[in-house]
Amino acid sequence: MSEKMKEYIEEAEKDLLHTYNRYQVVLDHGDGVHLYDIDGKEYLDFVSGIAVFALGYNNKEYNDALKAQIDKVIHTSNYYYNVPAVDAARKLKKVSGMDRVFFTNSGAEAVEGALKAARKYAFLKDGKNDHEIIAMEHSFHGRTFGALSVTGNPKYREAFEPMIGHVRFAKMNDFESILENVNDKTCAIIMETVQGEGGIFPAQEDFLKKVRALCDEKDILLILDEIQCGMGRTGYMFAWQKYGIKPDIMTCAKALGCGVPVGAFLLNEKVGQNSLKAGDHGTTYGGNPLACAAISKVLDLFEQYNIIDNVNSVAPYLEKRLDELVNKYDFITTRRGAGLMQGLVFDRPVADIIVKAMDKGLILINAGAQIIRFVPPLVITKENVDQMIDILDACLQEV
Ligand SMILES: *Cc1c(COP(=O)(O)O)cnc(C)c1O
Repeated sequence: MSEKMKEYIEEAEKDLLHTYNRYQVVLDHGDGVHLYDIDGKEYLDFVSGIAVFALGYNNKEYNDALKAQIDKVIHTSNYYYNVPAVDAARKLKKVSGMDRVFFTNSGAEAVEGALKAARKYAFLKDGKNDHEIIAMEHSFHGRTFGALSVTGNPKYREAFEPMIGHVRFAKMNDFESILENVNDKTCAIIMETVQGEGGIFPAQEDFLKKVRALCDEKDILLILDEIQCGMGRTGYMFAWQKYGIKPDIMTCAKALGCGVPVGAFLLNEKVGQNSLKAGDHGTTYGGNPLACAAISKVLDLFEQYNIIDNVNSVAPYLEKRLDELVNKYDFITTRRGAGLMQGLVFDRPVADIIVKAMDKGLILINAGAQIIRFVPPLVITKENVDQMIDILDACLQEV
């Protein structure tokens, strides 16, 4: 590591609030599936800024679209209409089949909006303030109070209690556990279609269908958090599309803007018409012209580059190569995931393996202490998979 890089890291540790144990690298720029640090070292990136940079870095068409919007106008206000927001909403409705869109600046804010919409929907039905939400154990929905309140990891919540309250936690893929927690006050069930931070657990088809049917029967709203698993990552634009079911509310962020900080929650018409009204919810930045120009271009490029076809062609190969590692090493227990959202489960902590990989020019990340997560740019090739496996295999031989 150069002296210059050391100095930046020291300064960062003095100036930035220490809420992350950061890897010892200062990144400078990216190109395609590669990142470069300020010393010029190249890294193959299998994290994409945590499932964000789906299109790969430094995509010229994407960059040009943003530059063009910057030269027009970056921000106005939600009190006025703007063309990029209309374009982005139309395209997002088309790929999701949802009916109404509210743009936010982040994933957590999308979750906040979804929870508010669900509570308002229930409030309009019976005028009461005692409605409950069912969330999943091991879930992750973000760091704001509302999103944290439905995050099924006590470690994240403990110091910040009390949460918003009236939240119950059930077990993912255990319908009995849902039934045990449902009552007349339940207004929403929220889950990630594929749990990300909690360890890459896909919801099972049978479970999702039963939850959907229960929600229909009792007029409970099903909120699916697609912030990490959405936007093509599992081989479907949104992971629930595989199962022939549809949420009442869906949250989206991460790859939605491919680097520009944006999110959205989308509602079906029933909830759209019977929940948040003028004055109930708002945001200064959310859906501003720059953010929406990004979303609009991302959705165009997904189609133009057949991103989902690429996921479906590369993902089985990634699965096969990861399974070879499961067979080869006793300390790897299993692989699980969907599409280009995969986890290798170890019987030991993985932190040292990730550091080794970084030394050898491969960026990986964990999901929990014992799981290596693979969420690469969606434009990766089989060749990139081979390059990644070669480096990872070399690291595993050393442990
Ligand atoms: C990352 C993530 C969030 C939070 O998004 P932020 O943009 O970090 O607020 C919420 N839900 C899921 C499933 C996520 O992966």
